[in-house]
Amino acid sequence: MKPYYIIHRDDAESKEIAKIITERLGADSLNEYQPEVVFVVGGDGTFLTAVHRYLDILDKVGFVAIHTGTLGFFTDYQAEEVAECLHDYQHRQPLIREAKLLKITVSDQVYYAVNELRIENVHRTQMIDVFIDDTYFETFRGTGICVATQLGSTAYNRSLGGSIIVDGLELLQLSEIAGIHHKAFHSLGSSLILKETSKITLKGYDYEQAVMCYDHKTMNLHDQLTIECSLTAKAIRFFHYRDVSYLKRLNSLF
Ligand code: NAP
Repeated sequence: MKPYYIIHRDDAESKEIAKIITERLGADSLNEYQPEVVFVVGGDGTFLTAVHRYLDILDKVGFVAIHTGTLGFFTDYQAEEVAECLHDYQHRQPLIREAKLLKITVSDQVYYAVNELRIENVHRTQMIDVFIDDTYFETFRGTGICVATQLGSTAYNRSLGGSIIVDGLELLQLSEIAGIHHKAFHSLGSSLILKETSKITLKGYDYEQAVMCYDHKTMNLHDQLTIECSLTAKAIRFFHYRDVSYLKRLNSLF
């Protein structure tokens, strides 16, 4: 039996499913620090937590996720399908699908995101010079900027009116968060979809009171003015034991 671990949401149903998994696969193979398979039980938010927890060994870990709720974007099984999930895990070979993470560089520090990077300032108008592949593109004024991956296109990006990118297309999407548009200030306004090799640089004039959000995590920027992001080879490995169509997942969202 491969070493495995379970990351679950802290509700009764998710805990119960974690218990069923442990009973079926055996407690002896539980390995919190070097699992080869991570079962995620909860929502898409729980999945983000699991990926961030195993960032350093992502190339050695495969994720299998069970959603306690509706069908999620990162999950192939629903709560009532736990027996089927475990049967598939024990008897079938997975199809491994990889999804690249967003690499964010601030000064010399590197951060990773599954869904998106957001620079937000709810205190005052944030000015940001946007460069794409080192070429100046625009000066943004407003609440902030969001750079989403394909996986993140259904998350915050969707609430901003950004496009949903179907799976199989590794793209980046740059969207404004409440941009100011009038005679004096202009920026693109629409979401911009960029190829997977693009590098986006966000240079603030002053990031005082601005917050950098990457998935569920946040940090203050203070006097760090240049933020770079691009897709990286570091990737999540989804272990798929059955084929759930992307459109079916999307349909369950609304
Ligand atoms: P969270 O409570 O963990 O998640 C907020 C909601 O976003 C939950 O309903 C979650 O689904 C859903 N979600 C997360 N990733 C998704 C994806 N790739 N596609 C579709 N839905 C997704 O919130 P958090 O800890 O603050 O932030 C985690 C993520 O949630 C962020 O990366 C951001 O994209 C998203 N979020 C979105 C909004 C918004 O749309 N206005 C606001 C805050 C955060 P589950 O219920 O299945 O966990």
